[in-house]
Amino acid sequence: DLGDEQGSHARRRLVVLTGPTAVGKGTVEARLRQVHPRVWVSVSATTRAPRPGERDGVNYWFMSEQEFARRQAAGEFLETALVHGMSHYGTPLQPVLDHMAQGVPTILEIDLQGAHRVRQCAEGLGLDVVYVFLAPPSFDDLIKRLDERGTEDAQQRRKRLETARVEMASQGEFDVVIVNDTVEQAADALWRVIAGEYGLD
Ligand code: 5GP
Repeated sequence: DLGDEQGSHARRRLVVLTGPTAVGKGTVEARLRQVHPRVWVSVSATTRAPRPGERDGVNYWFMSEQEFARRQAAGEFLETALVHGMSHYGTPLQPVLDHMAQGVPTILEIDLQGAHRVRQCAEGLGLDVVYVFLAPPSFDDLIKRLDERGTEDAQQRRKRLETARVEMASQGEFDVVIVNDTVEQAADALWRVIAGEYGLD
């Protein structure tokens, strides 16, 4: 059967979607899911409170600091981060392994620091990963996006721009670079990476 034949040649790697702050990872991922509902996107755990409209198990797995710490100690996270020095975030490992074992196209959307931590531990976990960097059409475009989003004062803005500059310079370290010219085109490029990995069309 041709499907199995293709499947056996497919590498079926975990797709890590990363890129600078405000480049539009969430929007591209939402568009991809809308067009290709069979893609599964990892849901992170967090200790921060849900915002209005956010749902447990959909936006995040919301949990107490105690529960997060217990799960972390039990090795249940692929990676974790303390964000803004306040709240913990983490990628639950088992759901990623389960979906990949079932051949479900699996995506992890994460910031660049998180992607670096995944890189450090993936091999030890026997995880095969393809790293996809979502890039803005230009640095000016990224500045525009940061400003549109921004509620920051001048000093914070300068810091974020400096971070963005360093992050943009790191794109050569990634397996695939997708330029976010339009959401549709970027989501389609991402789908082609997934389709290649999982032997889909
Ligand atoms: P927010 O609380 O606004 O939803 O997210 C705050 C930050 O946490 C964002 O920069 C987001 O990328 C990051 N974040 C969300 N989930 C995870 C995760 O599982 N791991 C890491 N390292 N960062 C995450």
